[in-house]
Amino acid sequence: MRTVETSQAWLKAALGLVYPEVCQLCNAERATTDDGFVGGQCWSQVRFIRPPFCARCGLPFAGEFTTEFTCTNCHELELHFASARSAVVAKSVVLEAIHRFKYSHALWFENFLTDLLVREAGPELKDEKWDFIVPVPLHPLKLREREFNQAERLAAHLCRATNIPLNAKILRRVNPTATQTRLTRDERAVNMKNAFTVRPGISLNDLRLVLVDDVFTTGATTNACAQALRRAGAAAVGVWTVARGL
Ligand SMILES: [Zn+2]
Ligand SMILES: [Zn+2]
Repeated sequence: MRTVETSQAWLKAALGLVYPEVCQLCNAERATTDDGFVGGQCWSQVRFIRPPFCARCGLPFAGEFTTEFTCTNCHELELHFASARSAVVAKSVVLEAIHRFKYSHALWFENFLTDLLVREAGPELKDEKWDFIVPVPLHPLKLREREFNQAERLAAHLCRATNIPLNAKILRRVNPTATQTRLTRDERAVNMKNAFTVRPGISLNDLRLVLVDDVFTTGATTNACAQALRRAGAAAVGVWTVARGL
């Protein structure tokens, strides 16, 4: 596993040598390191999540809602987080950037994805009272294979932007769950059951924690994390992800 520092150095060196100033999503427009290697055309396809959305899970709705509401899914589920929010809709350029960042080691998308998360979550988190930002952990086997935890990298940037400390140690993934992309909502929930634990001997009494992940799909992963944190005494768990599946 690379440390954040060496991987950052590796990233800078690799970027300077290998990548011309071209949008890494469409290869058809100019984009610099500062743009996160995503050009204006591709940026224009990003859909930020704006109200109205479910107060609990963050699912956006079309139409007019003047009062706070909770969606029907949330009424049926046992949710352990107080609320979940995402910066953007998980489709088109965003989904591609996330997939390539995670599965193809396309680290140059980190700035783009971080930018989306920080500009939406940053101001909100600063106005609230949180003790730690906790990334959704990878199982050690998967971490060895991928060499980095995308959630931890995104969380670290959010910590710098909000001055909320990072805590990547308290939560562990103990069950190397298979990829969930083909599973239904119920299958995902079963798959995730007992996938996470809090490290023994740690008390989270009265702590307010923000979980960070790249994508929120059915919420099975973040809900299982939140359950483990609440069981260990956390007073509240909030969730922020870069993107939200619809
Ligand atoms: Zn582009
Ligand atoms: Zn909901």
